Amino acid sequence: MTTRIVIVGAGIHGCSAAVHLSLLGHQVTVIDKAYAGRHASGVNAGGVRRLGRHPAEIPLAMAAWKRWQTMHDFVGEDCGFRPVGQIKVAESESDMEHLALREKQLQSLGFDHEYLIDGDELRRRIPSVAQHCPGGLACDGDGYANPYRTVTAWRRRAQQQGATFYEGIEVTNLEPHRGGWNVDAGGQRFYADIVVNCAGAWAGTLCERLGEPVPLRAEAPMLMITERISPFLQPVVGATSRPLSFKQFENGTVLIGGGVRGIVDTQRNLAETRLDGLAENADTVVSLFPFMAQVRIVRTWAGVEAVMPDQLPVIGHSAIHHNVIHAFGFSAHGFQLGAITGEIVSDLVEQSEPSLPIAPFSIRRFHND
Ligand SMILES: Cc1cc2nc3c(=O)[nH]c(=O)nc-3n(C[C@H](O)[C@H](O)[C@H](O)COP(=O)(O)OP(=O)(O)OC[C@H]3O[C@@H](n4cnc5c(N)ncnc54)[C@H](O)[C@@H]3O)c2cc1C
Repeated sequence: MTTRIVIVGAGIHGCSAAVHLSLLGHQVTVIDKAYAGRHASGVNAGGVRRLGRHPAEIPLAMAAWKRWQTMHDFVGEDCGFRPVGQIKVAESESDMEHLALREKQLQSLGFDHEYLIDGDELRRRIPSVAQHCPGGLACDGDGYANPYRTVTAWRRRAQQQGATFYEGIEVTNLEPHRGGWNVDAGGQRFYADIVVNCAGAWAGTLCERLGEPVPLRAEAPMLMITERISPFLQPVVGATSRPLSFKQFENGTVLIGGGVRGIVDTQRNLAETRLDGLAENADTVVSLFPFMAQVRIVRTWAGVEAVMPDQLPVIGHSAIHHNVIHAFGFSAHGFQLGAITGEIVSDLVEQSEPSLPIAPFSIRRFHND
């Protein structure tokens, strides 16, 4: 049966849902108050990472990783995906102990995709890493992709299958109507049998309107990119006891990010960088790669991201409306998972039990009853 579905938000998760739902022949409308990929999904660091995920997310990250391997066949382009591997570098023996515990924990859960490497192996893989680093935790097959190309490819694929995109109009009201929803946006009214909330950092506003508030907080992860320099780095690098994400692209530029946050204003749809935070990230980079002190930063930016208190997304049915599905709150690591969210959402629309375990992501975990 064809279902009329309105997806709020054309980030990676909204576009992924649109692809999978239109594949099943549903009538899909995607509404974005800006445009596809304008916010987190189009401006992120492009990390395609299973390394370091919360155990609850690993089955999803594994399934998404499989999809990343066949991205070209699925959406018509490879989205710049480069499976160069990722390594979490230890800066001390206590970091090494921490990483060894992590490897053990994953093995006890039946996963072997993260494994410890010693200092010699670390230097073989990353010759320019600082001498004091005693090793790291590696994950082969992880890597990076181009975020804006990725969202655009998924959006194009959804459109080719008949999904309609409305950009530059904001969903301002949802009203129950004839078993479904009247969705008001930009002076137009859309009817939906099912609403999918993929509104990123603004998803909490929709939840409030729906009567199920969530403790979502908007944050502004920051990034900086350097001038082009000679190739020196294959894998994506993270640190163990402080925030860092560090990668060199094929054009020679180096992208630096991490957990340090800028200033966010969701009312004005803005994220701004903070120089002291960027300096903190730069210090981490220089202590791991001393030669980077000579390299110039040519651009910095920040993006608006939805973060949940437990750093896990909300994926699943609304707790109070059978015809609302949520997929938001990806807490600064949702790009990789975008490849699989649509499949989960389409399972939920079809009323079938999702093949992946999503119970830990239920919105009910924020309800007191
Ligand atoms: C700087 C930065 C670096 C990051 N690096 C990585 C990384 O390396 N790897 C990784 O896995 N993740 C990373 N992330 C996180 C990742 O980008 C996000 O988790 C993911 O993109 C979230 O996608 P989304 O579709 O939920 O949200 P978004 O991309 O924010 O999309 C939500 C959309 O909803 C629209 N919207 C909101 N409210 C309404 C409304 N009422 N009406 C209409 N439209 C509405 C918005 O305009 C927006 O386009 C990073 C994030 C940032 C900001």
